Amino acid sequence: MKLFTRFAPSPSGYLHLGHVYSASMAYEAAQKSDGKFLLRIEDIDAGRCRPEFEESIYEDLEWLGFSWSGSVRRQSEHMEDYAALLSKLSDRDLIYSCFCTRKEIAAEIAQSNAAPHELSNQVYPGTCRSLSEKERQRRYDGGQPYALRLNMVNAMAAIDLSRLTFEETSKGHIACDPAPFGDIVLARKDTPTSYHLAVTFDDAIQGINHVVRGQDLFTVTHIHRLLQALLDLPTPSYFHHGLIADHTGRRLSKRDQDATIKSLRGNGYQPEEVLKMAKYG
Ligand code: GLU
Repeated sequence: MKLFTRFAPSPSGYLHLGHVYSASMAYEAAQKSDGKFLLRIEDIDAGRCRPEFEESIYEDLEWLGFSWSGSVRRQSEHMEDYAALLSKLSDRDLIYSCFCTRKEIAAEIAQSNAAPHELSNQVYPGTCRSLSEKERQRRYDGGQPYALRLNMVNAMAAIDLSRLTFEETSKGHIACDPAPFGDIVLARKDTPTSYHLAVTFDDAIQGINHVVRGQDLFTVTHIHRLLQALLDLPTPSYFHHGLIADHTGRRLSKRDQDATIKSLRGNGYQPEEVLKMAKYG
């Protein structure tokens, strides 16, 4: 089977070795199967994304020898697609507006008896779920900002849960249980979409049939699979790879300036050396 894979960085920092590892895995999977490797720029967060980071993504990838099929999909150019999805969900009573601030949510959770560190502790307590239409309208009229949240109970009732699985390379079928995530945000107050909504739709619209990404995103695949079922989108197979660490065993992140491709390039490393470093740590 031809694998259509993608690399989907956010231009909120320079690419580091961890990104190159991820891109290499996706690139190799596509090449080995005579498939395609695509590029997507996940730039919905206008406050954190910068043009110089995006520019550097193209430069780094080209310098490393990656080439991608078709045009690059920049999420910020597709807000109307996400709005259409939200209105579909709204028509089916699967989302609701949430006016809570972070502070209010934290206070509400602290008041409940959830033990610290439990997942239930991070889950939205559903405060705005049962607001009356009149109250909701009053807040819209007052110009109060709002996010849109998935009504998890309605969502679970709308699908056949027994068929909610995804295929993970070398692990087989994984049964999904999105309920513990609660009423997740699908459109943020500051941007009319969210990572979960955009990534799920874009993988489908780009024809991605094999998602290669870091292990840190394994659990949220339960949410993505649910959204695929609700929006009638195809389900790709997944491979969540291990995360590469620095010499102290700490996971690499955007904060590790030394490991950016830009700085390695500047320090005279050759592309093959950087690809090797990304592969073997
Ligand atoms: N944009 C995400 C990141 O840079 C990757 C999302 C994904 O692969 O699903 O971490």
